[in-house]
Amino acid sequence: MIISSPQSMQKKALKWLKAGKSVGFVPTMGALHEGHLSLVRASKRDNDITVVSIFVNPAQFGPTEDYGSYPRSLKMDLSALKLFSVDAVFIPDVSDIYPEDFQTTVNVGKLSQPMCGKSRPVFFGGVARVVLKLFNLVMPTRAYFGLKDYQQFLIIKQLIKDLNLPVIIVPRAIIREKDGLALSSRNAYLSKEERKIAPRVYAALELGKEAAKSGKNPKQVQRIIEDHLKKNFVIDYVTVADPLTLASLKTFRGKALLAVAVWLGKTRLIDNLLVNQDTH
Ligand code: AMP
Repeated sequence: MIISSPQSMQKKALKWLKAGKSVGFVPTMGALHEGHLSLVRASKRDNDITVVSIFVNPAQFGPTEDYGSYPRSLKMDLSALKLFSVDAVFIPDVSDIYPEDFQTTVNVGKLSQPMCGKSRPVFFGGVARVVLKLFNLVMPTRAYFGLKDYQQFLIIKQLIKDLNLPVIIVPRAIIREKDGLALSSRNAYLSKEERKIAPRVYAALELGKEAAKSGKNPKQVQRIIEDHLKKNFVIDYVTVADPLTLASLKTFRGKALLAVAVWLGKTRLIDNLLVNQDTH
């Protein structure tokens, strides 16, 4: 079932709520790939009802970013979702999500500042605002987010906690191509040549992980990742951070997040890896 109006979506959600059904929700921007579908699979497994939203959210793109050219493949997305028999695909119009007099902002503070927040200052505000609105329309029991967007996951988790939203957030592992490249709708931008180079992002993270395991400190690990990346990419950031606060680490203890964002031509790629320094 395709639902396009926010009112109809909310009405359906209320009906499910009244009937005592658990609802799993997978928010996406479409151009679906196996990463998205892994979230759908998890939702189908855990809930009575599964709702997928497809909405390219203009509020999370900066004025010079790729809102206009972001890949859109609604027909293919719908046939992929048909195979999963999801209960509803919510595909709202921009004008229904953001009517002319829309004026509310939602900002999660400190977690939105480092990493992607530095180079994309409007991004997380746009994400938090639309996710909160979608939660109010879908009223999910559980919402599924990929760890590919690790900072986004933490921000939504914080939003849920700070505002006591009645939603359980379920993180899911990053799905990768065989050569290590993290699946992303933006991979469609890569030329054949770039596609061959792109897996080196993950290779750099793996090198960083090895270095961390062999006793190098966070600064050294960061430098090793940077040295590897700068041969092929323009680096936006490389961080070795606390996976709960995203603060840069001075020493390794317990878990660490290795996260990067790079440019390959006109395509921005992000990826990350969690390292557990307790289990050598
Ligand atoms: P997007 O359509 O890019 O906004 O992504 C929608 C959801 O899919 C987000 O929770 C992403 O983190 C998740 N996602 C995107 N790529 C992957 C991937 N390669 N593996 C797992 N989840 C992913």
